Amino acid sequence: MNKLVDKYGRVYSYLRISVTDRCNFRCKYCIPTQHFEFIHHHDILSYEDIIFALNLFCKIGIKKVRITGGEPLVRKGITNLIGEIRKKNKEIEEITLTTNGSLLSKFSKDLKQAGISRINVSIDSLRTERYHSITGGFELKNVIEGIKAAQNEGILPIKVNTVLIRGFNEDEIIDFCNFAADNNINVRFIEFMPIGNSIEWSKDSVVSGREILDIISEKFTITKLEKHKYEGPSLDYRLSNGAKIGIITPISNHFCGSCDKLRLTADGKLRPCLLSDNEIDLKKAIRERDTDKLLSLIKDSLKIKEWSHKVSDHESIKFNRTMSHIGG
Ligand code: SAM
Ligand code: SF4
Repeated sequence: MNKLVDKYGRVYSYLRISVTDRCNFRCKYCIPTQHFEFIHHHDILSYEDIIFALNLFCKIGIKKVRITGGEPLVRKGITNLIGEIRKKNKEIEEITLTTNGSLLSKFSKDLKQAGISRINVSIDSLRTERYHSITGGFELKNVIEGIKAAQNEGILPIKVNTVLIRGFNEDEIIDFCNFAADNNINVRFIEFMPIGNSIEWSKDSVVSGREILDIISEKFTITKLEKHKYEGPSLDYRLSNGAKIGIITPISNHFCGSCDKLRLTADGKLRPCLLSDNEIDLKKAIRERDTDKLLSLIKDSLKIKEWSHKVSDHESIKFNRTMSHIGG
């Protein structure tokens, strides 16, 4: 029985677990270049901590888990954690990973063996120089090779997440649609959010879902697709070149009313809404293996979750944590 229901009747079945705030990349919109601190090592949940907490989450309704970060593939033993989660929690229907893809060539085989269901890879530019610049000096070709390695292991479909930022990459929307068709990849365009951000966020920097569709429809015929049960908040379309694309609009048209997600940060905070700094600290209860206390804190986190985020009401807004802290 699902016990994760909030006061608005929303049912929670999806947990995103950030396993680290560390990352080999320095994406300009994600990790600030100044005043940025990593979480102290002793505050990071161990794998045993995560498995203990997840055991309870699964008993009360979690059915889908996403492993994220920071960059999850930089944490030692990550594929063992995924394998353990798979073995210990038969309730989990899907375990997925969000990665920058730079280490996929090395880990795809182990990820497949560990039982990963699907992988999302973040790519914000298909142009070598631009990619290099936004990520803080990394090579796009390693990521493309990583995607191919994952596809060869049969981890399908690969989804590519692309954050669109006005003046930076909206001129690549059509290139991404062609890339999707040519490589059998689903590309999802995501509106830029005011989290992290060395690139200054403002409403003007957001390329809205409407605008994205307008640009695409000048080139391709667009057919709206029905949603699969785990497809999440993206609005999905098939294009006349064969590409499947998704649009995720947290700013211009939020989907808070159907939110089914909770986020466990690398330092053991439960963050019920990505775009609100309200968090409940689970670490002590997890480390003391206190199931009753943990259950009560999880329920508290549903009480502090508001009906919707407030970003759309502001021209400019800042949050305390970066996406790499929270687990995007
Ligand atoms: N390192 C992995 C990666 O890049 O996929 C996983 C963590 S990263 C924080 C997860 C996702 O958050 C990425 O797709 C990234 O593009 C997205 N992200 C980070 N900062 C963002 C922002 N300010 N607005 C929208 N998406 C953001
Ligand atoms: Fe690292 Fe992902 Fe953030 Fe880029 S978006 S800095 S890869 S955590």
